[in-house]
Amino acid sequence: MTDKAKFPQTEIIRKQFPQKDVHGAISMPVYSSAAFEFDTAEEMEDAFLGKNGKHTYTRISNPTVEAFESRVQTASGAPHVMAVASGMAAISNVFLTIAYSGSNIVTSTHLFGNTFSLFLFTLKEFGVEVRFCNMLDVESVEKQIDENTCGVFTEIITNPHIEVADLSALSALAHKKGVPLIADSTIVPWNFFKAADFGIDIEIVSSTKYISGGATSIGGLILDYQTYDWEQSKKLHNLAKMTGKRAFQVKLRGEIARNMGATMSPQVAQLQSLGLETLDLRFRQEAQSCLELAKFLKTLPEVQQVNYNGLTDDPFYAISKKQFGDYPGAMLTFSLKDKATCFAFINRLNIIRRATNLFDNKSLIIHPESTIYGTLSPEYKKMVEVPDNMLRLSVGLENPEDLKADILQSLRFQV
Ligand SMILES: *Cc1c(COP(=O)(O)O)cnc(C)c1O
Repeated sequence: MTDKAKFPQTEIIRKQFPQKDVHGAISMPVYSSAAFEFDTAEEMEDAFLGKNGKHTYTRISNPTVEAFESRVQTASGAPHVMAVASGMAAISNVFLTIAYSGSNIVTSTHLFGNTFSLFLFTLKEFGVEVRFCNMLDVESVEKQIDENTCGVFTEIITNPHIEVADLSALSALAHKKGVPLIADSTIVPWNFFKAADFGIDIEIVSSTKYISGGATSIGGLILDYQTYDWEQSKKLHNLAKMTGKRAFQVKLRGEIARNMGATMSPQVAQLQSLGLETLDLRFRQEAQSCLELAKFLKTLPEVQQVNYNGLTDDPFYAISKKQFGDYPGAMLTFSLKDKATCFAFINRLNIIRRATNLFDNKSLIIHPESTIYGTLSPEYKKMVEVPDNMLRLSVGLENPEDLKADILQSLRFQV
């Protein structure tokens, strides 16, 4: 499985810029330039036709962004990686590449808030149907797939429900039905989760989270494992006849991403490249602290329920261990008596910060029902099933003893 020996830490750190920097800079230079110049019209023609690998314009490609993508390729093993402006840009670009009017996406209602909204509201207005099912029940997924399904989409650990589907079973089903499996793996990075081992065809990551290295910037990644035969896709069928397994990336990079224009900036690529160098260290520490805090929260009588896949009595412990080893992310949820108790608890915290986001170096707390899902109507709130007595904690790099003390002082506050 995914042990330390297999994560190419040394290669990520050592990976050089494709062309040597003229000054021999040891850190990745930021090519903060909108456009690139050519000596001749012929060279310029070749660049625009993609014949000489040269950059023309930063919305299309940029040397700093390309170097970041190449490091992500090393970290993940994916043959094609595209960096974009945010996790949501990654998800929307993927579906703009494969969906079409009359097609449908098979997924669960247990989704990150904006992903739910993208599927249910935004894409719907372009004639793309979303079909909800229970990802934990393969038969319920199978029933929703038909000849117009453009993809099955799942989060590897749902946020904030912290559920884990059996990814090998899902990919076996999707492939039997001739559709690609697309997964959002933001919660567990490549040092403990290898999408290719579970038959995921397209992996999506919000690099804002673990990779940015301390909430420095917003970014997203699309990883194409080139495992799906796009000749089976109604939309990419003809392209796949010409380009084979590369059809998805040809459509994405050559058309969709450049037309949508949600490009990652070179400044962000540099920050996130640096974040990638310390990802393994930070992730291990945060996941260990998260397990420690989950165990601690379970001992407190004020806490009604704790959800973390690393707890041996968690309903998803076994499948989580199989897929993510001993490190199922650094996000947990827990329940207090009611919403008012949750708010009072949040307001008294001194060390844990009141903020959204995940996997900052700082621990972050949020009440999802009133914030991330706050603008949903009661009908949609019911669909997403986020209870109003639940809190989400993303565990940072503080000393876990200080975090426990902060939780205790807030829970047991006396006037
Ligand atoms: C944050 C997040 C996203 C969206 O990413 P942005 O970078 O904020 O656009 C998508 N999926 C999951 C699981 C997330 O946590």
